[in-house]
Formats: sequence, structure tokens, C-alpha cells
Amino acid sequence: MSNSHNRICQLLDIQYPLIQAGMIWCSGWELASAVSNAGGLGIIGSGSMYPEILEEQVIKCKEATNKPFAVNLPMLYPDIDKHIETIIKYKVPVVFTSAGNPKTWTKHLHDHGIKVVHVVSSVKFALKAQEAGVDAIVAEGFEAGGHNGRDETTTFCLIPMVKDAIQIPLIAAGGIGTGRGMLAAMNLGADAVQVGSRFVTSIESSAHENFKQYIVASEEGDTMLTLKELTPVRLLKNEFYTQLQSAYQDGADKEKLSEILGRGRAKKGMFEGDLVEGELEIGQIAGLIKKIMPAGEIVKEMMTEFHQALTEQKNYI
Ligand code: NDP
Repeated sequence: MSNSHNRICQLLDIQYPLIQAGMIWCSGWELASAVSNAGGLGIIGSGSMYPEILEEQVIKCKEATNKPFAVNLPMLYPDIDKHIETIIKYKVPVVFTSAGNPKTWTKHLHDHGIKVVHVVSSVKFALKAQEAGVDAIVAEGFEAGGHNGRDETTTFCLIPMVKDAIQIPLIAAGGIGTGRGMLAAMNLGADAVQVGSRFVTSIESSAHENFKQYIVASEEGDTMLTLKELTPVRLLKNEFYTQLQSAYQDGADKEKLSEILGRGRAKKGMFEGDLVEGELEIGQIAGLIKKIMPAGEIVKEMMTEFHQALTEQKNYI
């Protein structure tokens, strides 16, 4: 049952304008189906999945929900053709593309009846995505966890600017984890919101329990954007982050930073729970997350808070 007053609910055939971000190592079928069953849109994060794993995840997600769900496809993914084949074979209704050119796959996915939403972090790329024919845009601000834009534009500034520039539906992301945040983003011009970090700490997330607990214990100021020379990424501070900081102080160049990062750091931290040597990708909103909850309860709580805040807002005037 979609909400006919909202462009994103109409487009994606969902009840609430609330989307769970596709996140490597954290969002598999359990999380995606739980969010979709609760009336939002759940997304499987395929960036960390070998092709046969994604296929298994899509099959399980279809068994767990008859509501729409999506797959997030980072365009840097090495076996992207195989992921696309799986998405088409199993008729996944929506794809969220990120980290690449939206022109490459949009038409092909549309030809197979799949809706395409592209993630950007600037007005320039929002315009390019609209030109490429995507159905909607996620504009993600500086507060977001994981891969981040180069311009460091915050959600508060980015959303109204993108809103002014594009005509297609707009989803705000970065720093949103509560109903109040959701209302604020929609007041700035977004049709819907995408929430990542809050769902990392859900029961159904595939993030390691150590990582979830570490997020819940974190406070304001505990995340930082780093590795701008490679791909800018927002991390929760830990020993690995400190190693990077020392390398910067010693004047490390791109090659040295790449060598320190190595391969599979995100898996080590977020999936295997190594809080010392692992890379812990999370957004600034982590400092506001105080509880591990079922994903469906998060959706319910956010929507209740959203409506309370909306009523309060109406009473101001
Ligand atoms: P690394 O190069 O450090 O490691 C690759 C990881 O991906 C390994 O852990 C590997 O698992 C796994 N993997 C899954 N499928 C493949 C494949 N076909 N070939 C090689 N490795 C594969 O990369 P990251 O962990 O930093 O990033 C992985 C992906 O996630 C990339 O596509 C990247 O663009 C995306 N990403 C997206 C982010 C976002 O915010 N949207 C944030 C960070 C990354 P194993 O160890 O089992 O071999």
C-alpha cells in the first residue's frame, strides 16, 4: 500500500518515505526484508558480496517479503555484470546505484522494468544523474558514514541546493536517524529520507555485535572523515584510525596510505568485529544511537516521532 501523496512512496510503491541504506557488510536480506515488511524500503548492499552470495541474498529476501526491496550497486564493484544479471533474473524492482556514472547501466535496467535511483553528494552530479534518466536521486551529505563526497557539503546545505536544481524526486541522506531528522530533511525539500547508521545497529543487521556495541557507546565527535587522497570515508575512531593519523603526521603519500589500508579492512572491522585493526564505517549520527533494536521497531519509532514533531511544528505557528 503506497502513500499516494508522496512522490517516492508512489514511485517505489512503499508505505513510508523511509529507506534503509545499502551498506557493505551490514545490510543483507534479513535487514532489507524487515524494513520492507515494516513499510519502508529495505536495500541489500551488494558491494561486499561475491556474485553467488548476492543471488542467495536476493532469493532469501524474496522469500521473506512480498513488498518491494532494492539492491545497492556500487559501480566500482569488480563483477558488476554478474550482479546486474542476478538483479534482472530475479526481477528486483529497484536498484540504487552509487560511486560511478549513472549513464552506464540506467537504460539497461529500465529496459528490464527496473527503477533506478542514483546516490550523489553534489549538485553537479545530481544534474548528471537526472540527465542520465534515473527515476530519483539520493543526495548524501558530509555527515554520512562510509564513502563520502569530496566537497564536504553538509546535508543541511546540500538538500535545498539539489532540490532547486532537479525536478525528479529527491531522497535526503547523511545524519538522519530519528523522526525529527526525517521531518527536518523533508522541510528542506526532500521527498523521503535514507537512513544507514541507525539500521547498522538493528538486530537484523549483519554487522558484528562488537561493532554494534561500539556504535551505541560512541558519542558526538567520535567519527571523522579520512583517506581523502584515496576515497574519502567516515570512520569511527579506533586504533586503525589512529594509525592513519600518525601516518598523515609523518607525511604519508597516497601509496603509503593505500599500503596501510590494505585489503578487506572493512570486513575485518564491521563483519568480523575487530575493533582494533578493522575499518569501522559509520555516520556522525552514531553519537545519537543508544539502543540496538529490531529494524521494524526503528521504522515504527521514527514514523511516530516524525508525526509528533510534525504536530508540534504545526502548533508553533
Ligand atoms: P577492499 O578492496 O578492501 O576489499 C574487497 C572486499 O569485498 C573483500 O572483503 C571481499 O571479500 C569483498 N568482495 C566481494 N565480492 C568481491 C569480488 N567480486 N571481488 C573482490 N572482492 C570482493 O574493498 P572494501 O571492503 O573497502 O569495499 C568493497 C566494496 O564496497 C567496493 O565495491 C566499494 O566500492 C564498496 N564500498 C561502498 C561503500 C559505501 O559507502 N557505499 C563504503 C565502502 C566500500 P573477501 O574478504 O571475502 O574476499
